[in-house]
Amino acid sequence: MNTQFDAIVIGAGAAGLMCALTAGQRGLRVLVLDHANKAGKKILMSGGGRCNFTNTGASPANFVSANKHFCKSALARYTPWHFIALVERHRIAYHEKELGQLFCDDSSKQIVAMLLAECAHAGVEIRTHCTIERVEHTDAGHYRLHTPQGHFTSAALVVASGGLSIPSMGASGFGYQLAKQFGQHVLPTRAGLVPLTLSGKHAERLQDLAGVSLPVEATCNGVSFRNFMLITHRGISGPSILQISSYWQPGDDLRLDLLPGIDGAQQLADWQRTRRDTELKTVLGEVLPKRFAQRLCEHWMINKPLRQYTPAELHAIAELLAAWPLIASGSEGYRTAEVTLGGVDTDGLSSSTLQSKTIPGLYFIGEVVDVTGWLGGYNFQWAWASGHAAGMAIGG
Ligand code: FAD
Repeated sequence: MNTQFDAIVIGAGAAGLMCALTAGQRGLRVLVLDHANKAGKKILMSGGGRCNFTNTGASPANFVSANKHFCKSALARYTPWHFIALVERHRIAYHEKELGQLFCDDSSKQIVAMLLAECAHAGVEIRTHCTIERVEHTDAGHYRLHTPQGHFTSAALVVASGGLSIPSMGASGFGYQLAKQFGQHVLPTRAGLVPLTLSGKHAERLQDLAGVSLPVEATCNGVSFRNFMLITHRGISGPSILQISSYWQPGDDLRLDLLPGIDGAQQLADWQRTRRDTELKTVLGEVLPKRFAQRLCEHWMINKPLRQYTPAELHAIAELLAAWPLIASGSEGYRTAEVTLGGVDTDGLSSSTLQSKTIPGLYFIGEVVDVTGWLGGYNFQWAWASGHAAGMAIGG
């Protein structure tokens, strides 16, 4: 059994496999270790089983990080078009959904099969079911990994163990612990791209509307996302809420424009002129889901025939519709979150190689790093780009 490698990658996920195949193609001897029973489990479950593998519009603006410039170098050197070329070379059929999001026509299994085929072709060894008990940095500057499958040594160690989201899929805090072991600073983590929960009055008023969905523009901390919101049994979800959840923290002001793209004040004035005897809940029920409009009029507004509203009352209603304050009590947490915000502080890493600035040969890539993408294929693009950057740099 070979136990000496140029690089050992911890984590056979999106970033780890990309890094391994890139380094392997450069002639390096690469070993990938994963404690899960198979490689690429999150890829398999991604995009509803069709893997939203990239976004053609990906740019640094689509990522959340304490250092918004950090992701630029890797993203510029491995673009969505590089990954698309790989997908096309493997004859994987794909299609574009909204906003540049590319999905497999058939199955995300094809993306995992493609990465594994590339790894095999590049001579990469992959070991699953492999728990890493201990990592040592030897006096000679090598990394020595102790596992039940034996000891493995390498000149470079790449940590690609992902974030904390969906622990049932193999997620662990191992990468953060390892970072701390080597003196790398780790920023606090929290769940991102996650449904928000409601409690108290908000929950009581909306709970029985679970399943109702409507377009909104969600705004929090100066950032807005326009897309659908879904009312759930526990709170709110849907793409606009998942997106804004990455910018929301308990106590933050969250506002929803319930008539995005419509001038509410103008619309109300028009209705008051043309539908004088119609009640507010009826006209709102024509532009919002009926039951939701009724609920708004029961709890947040006074319902009466339109002719009875004063200009000040109509103005207040327009303001409420444009910035409906929804007090979220929390998020559903890592159990359902798509990503983990925070993580290994980019201050301690080179943005071009993802190598530690202080420990030679130690790399952190993918979601374990404090770079988190929006919903829509951006997180995989970061995994591919950061994996590629490290894969090109190892041994250089
Ligand atoms: P991962 O893919 O999580 O891989 C980490 C690997 O490390 C895993 O194989 C894990 O088993 C292994 N590991 C963890 N701890 C240890 C340990 N102690 N020892 C050994 N191995 C370990 N993003 C998109 O861009 N598009 C999508 O369509 C999309 N859909 C998603 C759907 C869901 C339900 C979820 C949860 C996420 C989705 N994401 C999507 C996000 C995306 O999956 C992640 O951002 C991406 O997988 C991160 O890649 P990674 O390689 O850094 O980590």
